[in-house]
Amino acid sequence: MERLVRSCYKQGGYVFAKKAGAPAHGEGDMRVARLASNENPEPPSPAAIAAAQAAILGANRYPDERVDVLVSALRAHYGEYTFVTGVGMDGVIETLMRTLVDPGETVAVSTPTFSFYGLAGQAQGAKVIPVPRRADFSVDTGALVRAGKDAKIVMLCTPNNPTGNATPVKDIQKVLEGIGGVLFLDNAYIEFSGIDYLPLLRKYENLVIGRTFSKVHSLAGLRIGYAFVPAWLQPFYLRAGTPFTVNSVSAAAAAAALTDKGHAARYITQVTAWRKRFSDALTYPVLPSDANFVLVDVAPHTSDEVVEKLATRGVLVRSCRSFTGLDDHYIRVSIGEDWENERFVRELNAL
Ligand code: PMP
Repeated sequence: MERLVRSCYKQGGYVFAKKAGAPAHGEGDMRVARLASNENPEPPSPAAIAAAQAAILGANRYPDERVDVLVSALRAHYGEYTFVTGVGMDGVIETLMRTLVDPGETVAVSTPTFSFYGLAGQAQGAKVIPVPRRADFSVDTGALVRAGKDAKIVMLCTPNNPTGNATPVKDIQKVLEGIGGVLFLDNAYIEFSGIDYLPLLRKYENLVIGRTFSKVHSLAGLRIGYAFVPAWLQPFYLRAGTPFTVNSVSAAAAAAALTDKGHAARYITQVTAWRKRFSDALTYPVLPSDANFVLVDVAPHTSDEVVEKLATRGVLVRSCRSFTGLDDHYIRVSIGEDWENERFVRELNAL
């Protein structure tokens, strides 16, 4: 019966990071350092937990389909922009593809990058065109514009997963002005950079900026994301979305998380300090990062080899083998708690 399955799903899907539960550390410390998925190691803000607890009491009712509690909180936080929400930023990306892309149309992706863009495009029947970055992982804006002339959507991650670097605003402007469709800027890690792309929304009506509560806000398990969209797009996005996609507990928690600035600030301080400590302390080259992770060049080892060895020493990091367009000698390491980062430094240097 497998012949009935669409060919894009016979070929494979999203490659997940290694899970906790791998062999723990041999020195009597049974905790596993979880540095594979770029999560904030701190539990959610107490405000978010309280809001989720209150919201679950009303979970016998369907949620508000416009997710007003969260959209209002986003407006209070950022100002009068137009927002859409989704089940993680992944859900936003999926719904955006569904809104704009017909089978056979083109989605251009600046690579190497987060793999879900290509998978979401394929699911929509799109022709997915990878546009390689330069050797230093900066965006080749000329090539992206050329590929984007006939594309419905151009996908660009900044700061980029897994390379960590952010793209300058002027390069983003060049892309916005040169392409024929929408530019989706993935800002999952924007809070860890000093860059602000929001002013571009006032000038360009082909810009969508995706964000998530999975990273700095410690809500990865509640699956909630959002995007700043041009006003023309919002009604169509709402039509294309699965009814009642965002659940009431996640929406309430996310709205409350935005009010706890101290929670986010603590992790941003930790990230800034450890980006420098990683590059000072590691004996392998560390690429400059604007995100809450770093890419480490582990040559002459391969990424899988290092990931497996570190796992046996109680440290989970991300193999970069599955990132199309990236050579097989990089690992991606999230910034976690001090003990996790310290163990990672010790164990990698000892390899
Ligand atoms: N974009 C990027 C660049 C990511 O790294 C991730 C998560 N790893 C996502 C989007 C998806 O985020 P979410 O958890 O909100 O679906």
